[in-house]
Amino acid sequence: MNRLFFKTAPGIAVSLAAPRHLAGATPACKIASAGRLSLMGRSLRQASLAGSRGISTSPPVHSKLYLQEQLRQRSLNDPEGFWMEAQREIDWITPPTRALETPDPTQPHKVNWFPGATLNVSYNALDRHVNSGRKDQVALIYDSPVTQTVTKYTYAELHHRVMQAATMLRSHGVGKGDRVLSYMGMVPEAIVGMLACARLGAVHSVVFGGFASHELAKRIEDCTPKVVLASSCGIEGMDKVIAYKPLLDGALDMCKHRPAKVVVLQRPQMPAVLRPGEQSWQDAVDHIADKDLYRGYAEVEANEPLYILYTSGTTGMPKGVVRPSGGHAVVLQYTMQRMYGCAPGQVYWAASDLGWILGHSYICYGPLLNGSTTVLYEGKPVGTPDASAFYRVMEQHKVTTFFTAPTALMILRREDPHGAYRKKYDLSHVKAMFLAGERCPPEILRWWVRHITGVDDTGRAVHHVGSPVSNVVSDNWWQTETGSPLVGTMVGLSSDGDEIAPIKYGSAGLPVQGVDLRILRITDAFDEDTEVDPRPTEAPRGEIGNIVLKLPLPPGIMNTLWNADDRFFQTYFRRFPGYYDTGDMGMVDTDGYVHILSRADDIINVAAHRISTSAIEEVAVEHNEVAEACVVARAHPIKGSVPVVLAVRKHHRRDHSDRVIREDIVAGVRERVGAFASVYVRNVVFVERLPKTRSGKVLRKMVRSMIEELARAKDEPAGVVGACPVPTPATIEDEAVKDEIWASLRRWAAEEKESS
Ligand code: AMP
Repeated sequence: MNRLFFKTAPGIAVSLAAPRHLAGATPACKIASAGRLSLMGRSLRQASLAGSRGISTSPPVHSKLYLQEQLRQRSLNDPEGFWMEAQREIDWITPPTRALETPDPTQPHKVNWFPGATLNVSYNALDRHVNSGRKDQVALIYDSPVTQTVTKYTYAELHHRVMQAATMLRSHGVGKGDRVLSYMGMVPEAIVGMLACARLGAVHSVVFGGFASHELAKRIEDCTPKVVLASSCGIEGMDKVIAYKPLLDGALDMCKHRPAKVVVLQRPQMPAVLRPGEQSWQDAVDHIADKDLYRGYAEVEANEPLYILYTSGTTGMPKGVVRPSGGHAVVLQYTMQRMYGCAPGQVYWAASDLGWILGHSYICYGPLLNGSTTVLYEGKPVGTPDASAFYRVMEQHKVTTFFTAPTALMILRREDPHGAYRKKYDLSHVKAMFLAGERCPPEILRWWVRHITGVDDTGRAVHHVGSPVSNVVSDNWWQTETGSPLVGTMVGLSSDGDEIAPIKYGSAGLPVQGVDLRILRITDAFDEDTEVDPRPTEAPRGEIGNIVLKLPLPPGIMNTLWNADDRFFQTYFRRFPGYYDTGDMGMVDTDGYVHILSRADDIINVAAHRISTSAIEEVAVEHNEVAEACVVARAHPIKGSVPVVLAVRKHHRRDHSDRVIREDIVAGVRERVGAFASVYVRNVVFVERLPKTRSGKVLRKMVRSMIEELARAKDEPAGVVGACPVPTPATIEDEAVKDEIWASLRRWAAEEKESS
C-alpha cells in the first residue's frame, strides 16, 4: 500500500476463493448480575452490562461451550422438551400439549408449532400486564422530534386505545382472519391498529408510510383488506411533510378490491381531504365511550396468522410473509431477556420503522409481550435536529437496550466522526447495542466503541459523563421471513460463572436456539433445469458457501407466503432438499462463529474467483476519508466481470484528491483481498450518497442494472439520453438518490469513453 491511510486493525476481508484472515477484535465481556431470571430449568441472572469491561485485545478462548451454544444444542437434541418449557412464558387460552408436528412427512417444510393450542397475542402484550400490576407503567413512549412531541402511554392507556380501535374495526365487520392494511407511518396509532387487529384475530399488513401508489396497490390487491388504516401524511424530516392520502387514493383507484372502510388519522401538519364514506380516526376511534367498548378478544390457534408482511422478491410481486401467532409470541418473549437482556419495566428502543420486520418484532410485539417500555421514534439519526438525536433519546428515556441498523452508524460517523455530540449525554444505563439489516463493517463498530461507548482499545473509559457505557455490540442476522434473529450474541445470557460469548467484529456471532445452521458447498452439480441441488454437500469450517437451515425450522418463522404456497416452497425449499435456503452466502469459522458475507445474487465472479461484495466494501470504508462504500459487478471482456466501487467521501475530510483515494482503495484491496479481485482505479466512482431501502440496505441490484444499461448504450451513437431507464425500486428511501447515482455513473461512463 502506498500510503498509510488504512488502519491496520484486523477485519474480515475474504474472497470466496481465498479466505485470508478473520476478524480479530474480540471484546470478552464478563457480566455483572442483577435480578433473577428462570430459564430452562436452571437459574440465570438478568444481565446487567452497564458495568461490563472494555474491549479485550487478547484473543478469547473459543474452545469453551458458552451457555448460548449449550442451550442451542439442547433445543436441537430435544426440541419438544426445550420449546414446551419456553412456551410457559406465554399466557395461553388452551395451553399446548405438544411442541412440534409435521403433518405430512413428505413435506418437511410444513410444520406446526404448538398445534391446537390457542392464545391471543394482544392479550399477552397488554391485558396480562394490566392485570398483574403494570397498568401504570409506561408501555409506549412516542418520541417525535419532527413534531416536537414526546407522549407516554401507560399499559392501561394503551390497552384502552387498542380496545377502542378494535371496537371500531369490529363495527366494520372485521373479525378473525380478515385482513386490515395499515399505511400510517411512525405514529402511536399504527401500534394501536396492529394490536387491535391482533385482539380480533384479524391479520394486519403494515406497509411503509409513503410507499408508492402502484406498490401499495399490489399489496391491497393481494391481501384484500376489509379496512384500510392510514395517516393523512408522514413527517420525514424537520420540514419534510409527505402527503400519504393522495398516494393511498391513487392506489385504491388502481385496485379492483374495495375495502369496506378507509379510516384516516388526520395529522395537523397536513390533514387530508376525505372521500365519501371515509372517516377520520379521530371521529371513528377516539370518541368511543367506555360503555360501547368491545372488551373481548379472539381465540387464535397457534398456527393461525398474526400478520402478513410484504418483502420484495425476485419478481415484481412482493412476497407476503405470513407469521404464525403462537410460535412467534414464544420466540419473541424468549429473546427479550436472553438475547437482549431487557427486563420487564426496562426501556427498549429499536430505532427502526414499523414497516420493517425489526419494527414489528421489536418496536411493537417483543417489548410489550415482555412488559417492557418501547420507544417509537419518529426521527432520523441526523437532521432531527442533529447528530445528537440518538444520544438525547437514550438519555431522556433511560434506554437500556438499543437496536438499530448499521446504516445509522455510518451516517453518524460521517456527520460526527469524533462523537462530539455524544459527549454531552449520560448513556450509562445503555447495556448493549444490537444491529441488523446489513453486514456491519468492523471499522464502523470500532468507531462506535471508540467514540460513542467511550471505551478505548485497552478497555479504559475515555468519557467522563456518567459511568462508561457498555461496549457490547451484538450483530443480529435475520430476515423478514424468520421474524427474530437466527445468529447473534445472546447478551442476556449470563449468570455468576458465565460469560457471554465473546464478540468478533465482522461476524454476526453464534447461532441461537432452534437454529441448525449449515453451510452448503457451491457445487456445479446443480441441475440447471430443475434448479435443484440433488446432493447438497456441507462445506467444512472456514469455507464459504450457501447459508441454509436444516429442517425443521424453529418456531416463529413464516409458515407460508400469502396466496402463494407454491412460491413458498419454490423460493425457500426446492433448491436444497431438506433445508431452508436463506439466499445469503457466508461461512462458519473454526470457533463456530457465523460470517454473513452477502446475498447470493451479489457475489461477483471475477475470472472464476467468486468474490463477496463485503470483502471489498470493508477495505474501502477503512480508508480515513471514506464514509461508506458499495460494490457491484460490471461486465469485463476477459474476466467475465470485475468490481465497481461506489464510495462516499466523509464530509469533514478533504485532505486528498479523489485520484489519491482511488489509488489507496485499489492498493488496499490488492493487499487485503488479493490482486485477483481486479479493482481498477477507473472503477472507483465517488457519489454523494448510496441508494438505500428504508431499512438501510444498499440497493446494489439497482446500481448493477444502471451499469448494465450504460454498457449496453455505450456503442449506440447517441449513448444514453434522458432519464434513467432502470425502474425505481419500490423500497427506495429517497428517489432523488437514484437520479444522483445515475448522473454520477453517466459522467463516469462518459469519462471512460473519452479516455479510451
Ligand atoms: P430483510 O428481510 O429485509 O430484513 O433482509 C434480510 C437480509 O438482510 C438477510 O438475508 C441478509 O442478507 C441481510 N442481513 C440482515 N441482517 C444482517 C446482518 N446482521 N449481517 C449481514 N446481513 C444481514
